[in-house]
Amino acid sequence: MKNHPRVLIVEDEPAIAELIAVNLRHNGFAPTWAMDSASAQRELDAVLPDVIMLDWMLPGESGLTLAKRWRSHTRTKEVPIIMLTARGDESDRVAGLDAGADDYMAKPFSTKEMLARIRAVLRRRAPEQTEGVVTVGDLILDASTHRVTYNDQLLKLGPTEFKLLHFLLNHAERVHSRSQLLDKVWGDHVFIEERTVDVHVKRLREALGAAGVMVETVRGAGYRLTAQPAVSAPVSGKS
Ligand code: CA
Repeated sequence: MKNHPRVLIVEDEPAIAELIAVNLRHNGFAPTWAMDSASAQRELDAVLPDVIMLDWMLPGESGLTLAKRWRSHTRTKEVPIIMLTARGDESDRVAGLDAGADDYMAKPFSTKEMLARIRAVLRRRAPEQTEGVVTVGDLILDASTHRVTYNDQLLKLGPTEFKLLHFLLNHAERVHSRSQLLDKVWGDHVFIEERTVDVHVKRLREALGAAGVMVETVRGAGYRLTAQPAVSAPVSGKS
């Protein structure tokens, strides 16, 4: 990830835009704010951001219309878009994703959720950058030094657990089946029982200690690493 990824916030409500911008700046992002579709287009024409946070309900053209247009233009089609909206209906969510949004957040959302989703779309759009440092919440993996820390404390992981964690961090918030994990972590030429995945997930959780809850079992589906575990991790002390 770049040092200060640029985030374009397209939001007509100044209080919300300001809150988002302050939190982004505080967390190492470089936010800019556009309050309507025309100024958003001007910003995009001037500097291409790394991520767009796009409000659905805007004066003039809607966020949906903008997302469709930006997806259809060569210059902007690769820029990840996270739709922001008060709408929570599934049909709206589907419409947003159909329009080309990479993700969707219903207001109000927490800073942690926002950061997790931004980092997730940045990772998805930049798979070649997997050699560096990967961060989800307070969990940090540095592939070049082979170090994993949680809340600045160094954790000891076996080689398979390290590979497994690296994959899960690079694809955080998504559910992976056991066979997908075997393919991606062990390699599909290796014949291993799916039960082996469970064993290594258990070891990984133990090695992660307090962060172990971030590795969630999704019943009937597989595993997921999340910044927002259903069972909450101990409070880190950071806001
Ligand atoms: Ca709005």
